[in-house]
Amino acid sequence: MVAQATKPLSAPQKALRKLGLERPIDLALHLPLRYEDETRVTRIEDARDAQVVQIEGVIIRSEMRYGGQRQLLVEIEDDSGSCMLRFFNAYPSQQKSLVLGKRIRALGEVRGGLMGLTMMHPSVKSAETDLPQALTPVYPTSAGLPQAYLRRAVEGGLARADLTETLKPEELAALGLDAQWTLRAALHFLHHPTPDVTLSMLQDRSHPAWRRLKFEELLSQQLSQSKAKQERAQLKAVCLAASSGLRGELSVEPALHARLLASLPFALTNAQQRVCREIDQDLSRAVPMHRLLQGDVGAGKTVVAALAAARCIELGWQCALMAPTEILASQHFNKLLAWLEPLGVMVAWLTGSQKAKERREMLAMIASGQAQLVIGTHAIIQDKVSFDKLALVIIDEQHRFGVAQRLALRDKTQAQSRSAQQLEPHMLMMTATPIPRTLAMSYYADLDISTIDSLPPGRTPVLTKVISDQRRDEVLVRIRAQIDAGRQVYWVCPLIEESEALDLANATATHAAISAALPAVEVGLLHSRMAPADKKAIMARFTQGHMGVLVSTTVIEVGVDVPNASLMVVEHAERFGLSQLHQLRGRVGRGVAASACVLLYSTGEASRLGDLARERLRAMAQTNDGFDIARRDLEIRGPGDFLGARQSGVAMLRFADLQLDADLLDLAAQFAPRLLAQHPQRAEQHMNRWLGAQVAFLKA
Ligand code: ADP
Ligand code: MG
Repeated sequence: MVAQATKPLSAPQKALRKLGLERPIDLALHLPLRYEDETRVTRIEDARDAQVVQIEGVIIRSEMRYGGQRQLLVEIEDDSGSCMLRFFNAYPSQQKSLVLGKRIRALGEVRGGLMGLTMMHPSVKSAETDLPQALTPVYPTSAGLPQAYLRRAVEGGLARADLTETLKPEELAALGLDAQWTLRAALHFLHHPTPDVTLSMLQDRSHPAWRRLKFEELLSQQLSQSKAKQERAQLKAVCLAASSGLRGELSVEPALHARLLASLPFALTNAQQRVCREIDQDLSRAVPMHRLLQGDVGAGKTVVAALAAARCIELGWQCALMAPTEILASQHFNKLLAWLEPLGVMVAWLTGSQKAKERREMLAMIASGQAQLVIGTHAIIQDKVSFDKLALVIIDEQHRFGVAQRLALRDKTQAQSRSAQQLEPHMLMMTATPIPRTLAMSYYADLDISTIDSLPPGRTPVLTKVISDQRRDEVLVRIRAQIDAGRQVYWVCPLIEESEALDLANATATHAAISAALPAVEVGLLHSRMAPADKKAIMARFTQGHMGVLVSTTVIEVGVDVPNASLMVVEHAERFGLSQLHQLRGRVGRGVAASACVLLYSTGEASRLGDLARERLRAMAQTNDGFDIARRDLEIRGPGDFLGARQSGVAMLRFADLQLDADLLDLAAQFAPRLLAQHPQRAEQHMNRWLGAQVAFLKA
């Protein structure tokens, strides 16, 4: 038998699908952008300029005008006055439906006054229909999807969607939410609010129906995070308990961890000691650690990571340390090699740009377990790399990897350990971009967080100056003074995303100008298009102190540590994000020398330098507190951009706003673990409804 051909999709059906509006629940959750009030009619006499109103009258003129632009003119009249309706590029068929003597309603913005009223392109319908009882929704839509079609589709979705309540009235009441607003009631209301509603409460989403919906969404997010945390608690990991007691009897030498601690040229700060204890506690349990270590730039996270690695290695297990860029990875490699090699640790190195032979050797050492510590870029987590007995994974500058990659890594290690019945490695993630509380609660709720909240002693805060590009000469004088004092200088040029060529030209020109101005000084150039080996060579000249000035695109942004550098100049600072500027500034002020950061804004754009941009740069000069800066950055950029998640496809909140709805977030965070524990079925139902809908939203 021949299968019956399925009917091809119509254009609006295709557009619906493209917007991710397929299932009834997706349609039901597609909320209006705004509303039109067709519930009442304004007398023409009472309509005022610039008001959006609905008027009703009889057509007393209807004519098509040709000339420059085809224009349909229709005049209607009620007992108080008349109004001209204008439709540009109208079709003759449109004129046919607007015949003399017909009674119509027109909704639109009124223009004019004494000279007569007009409406441009009003929406028009026959006056025979009854006035609706509710406001008319206007939905976000796309080309090929007429508003009327979308309204009918949403209507159908709303009728068919399973809107069973997952929350009990007493639960809502206990949370201080109005139990009258069930999910069903809230959605029906938001699609068709009654005309007596205060429109501003719909616009700013403070209406109780909106709050119910936002709570639903936040709860689903919290539920899935709690669930991930619960599932993790079921997994097994190697117990890496401090070994001093037991091993002490067997070996004459104290354990690696203690020896590393003793060999450091400095004492740990109180904050470092505290986070080390928190990490040690996690490591000594047979459940995988998922801990985020956050600390401002220069807070000293690397040594904390090294101590955790030492704990792992001394017990005979392998540790992997992953960094987002090759420069940063190689810097970690050098530092940890210097700390750990003298103590007898075998450190391996793995990156994408490695020669095949060297890579093969490294892979063999990793697979045999001979390599105790493996440092590299994300090359480390590729499929070909197999560890003999991996017990700890450390990820530096984890925000650079993005939420999606973190979750992918989590899933990957979990899936592997489940299928092979192996032990799952502990994970330590580090970040210098502190995550504001609300964001941490919503996107990192499955992680435990440790914070290094103070810098090592002896640091002088970096002095920040915002100055015009035209004062470059003064900057060169400053540079010379730093060089004469034996210090080094970074000069950062922005990455111009649209054009790598421009980007390079800019950095090259700056490099040439500085070289010419400071002939006795070695000035290096580092940019994103250089071969890794060349980058490494340049970086080595700078790290070893031979090079006075390093001109670079933002490749040096994260983690680079050259304590002798005391001046950071950022060109076109207005093009950088706040957290990025803070990272850059964190490259100086790492030693004892007084350090400065100069943010140059280009005068070409000075007039265009908007208030926002100026305020941002000023904020940089006002505070050195990374948390403060991250908070402002979040306000300006929004969470999607902040997390780098928009692009990576992680479900973002569509209704709730982390800043404005922090109270609902708190409620959801309290309630989720309880619902999950006591009513797992309802919790599951709730999550399924919302998670599916969020994914659909993102496909749009
Ligand atoms: P970040 O947290 O930004 O990764 P690093 O780990 O690179 O910071 O540390 C910044 C600098 O501070 C390094 O040179 C490091 O050796 C040094 N450092 C770390 N801890 C201390 C400490 N307790 N006392 C003095 N210097 C320290
Ligand atoms: Mg670091």
